[in-house]
Amino acid sequence: MKTIAFIGLGNMGGPMAKNLVKNGYQVRAFDLVQSALDDISEAGAYAASSAQDAATGADVVVSMLPAGKHVKSLYLGEDGLINLLDAGKLVIDSSTIDAASAIEVGKALGEKGIHFVDAPVSGGVGGAVAGTLTFIVGGSQAYFEQAKPVLEAMGKHIFHAGDTGAGQVAKICNNMLLSILMVGTSEALNMGINNGLDPKVLSEIMKQSSGRNWTLELYNPCPDVMENVPSSNDYQGGFMVDLMRKDLGLAQQTAVDSGSVTPMGTLANSLYTLLSNQGAGKKDFSSIFKLLQSEQK
Ligand code: NAD
Repeated sequence: MKTIAFIGLGNMGGPMAKNLVKNGYQVRAFDLVQSALDDISEAGAYAASSAQDAATGADVVVSMLPAGKHVKSLYLGEDGLINLLDAGKLVIDSSTIDAASAIEVGKALGEKGIHFVDAPVSGGVGGAVAGTLTFIVGGSQAYFEQAKPVLEAMGKHIFHAGDTGAGQVAKICNNMLLSILMVGTSEALNMGINNGLDPKVLSEIMKQSSGRNWTLELYNPCPDVMENVPSSNDYQGGFMVDLMRKDLGLAQQTAVDSGSVTPMGTLANSLYTLLSNQGAGKKDFSSIFKLLQSEQK
């Protein structure tokens, strides 16, 4: 059975690493936070003293870190894993980062014969715990095939988006669209409410009509329309506004770099920045509904 080094045991990485252990992989894990190391050690992984210690003897390295600078530093920085890994080893970076950083890391590793895929995820902490994440992979067909069994131990849907960096681009295209749908659904519901409509009835009408979308079907932003969604629990849990802001920032950068016209994405980015500035950064992203709500007459 393969040995996997797992770097970054936060909200997502911790449960993902545990699922690798559950699926019989030998896991050598590292995080800067001691409590995360204690937790993974209890689950049956080896708690490494450094990223280098974790990667020693590993066939595959998986990283789940906050941003591009952390990923570049892990692989290409001083003591970077590029100096430790042999040719033919596989690196899977599942962090959500800018595509340019993913391409830079993939290229540098590739020059030493180390295989690389970017494999950001969709599905949140719930999906990470349940092992039902969607992985959106960028890299060659051969590296994709090499990564697939490892990803299947942590996820349900594994997509090959294209070459290196394509996973990151596809992921932020999706999240930009999601934010736009959330804003649009929220403003339609608020306008209906302001004109005397019951949000439950209006939601049902739009769900069966041409305005139908994921937020209406599974994640209604108006409190008490649906059970077991963040809007019915004071917008706790779910996908934080600040994480959506991070993804929208990456989307805007990608739009600028590629000359893409994204007026709706730009507007969604501004609205989510405003929401965060008003103190809702840790709330679920469906709380944009509150920002758009009129004063009750
Ligand atoms: P997190 O902040 O909970 O975890 C990041 C972990 O990385 C922390 O435990 C931190 O100590 C560790 N870390 C940072 N630098 C390190 C280093 N040099 N060596 C070892 N460990 C280091 O973040 P998260 O919510 O787990 O998210 C991780 C990535 O997944 C991010 O890129 C995020 O955008 C993406 N993501 C998150 C979600 C979500 O719902 N939380 C959903 C999809 C994608």
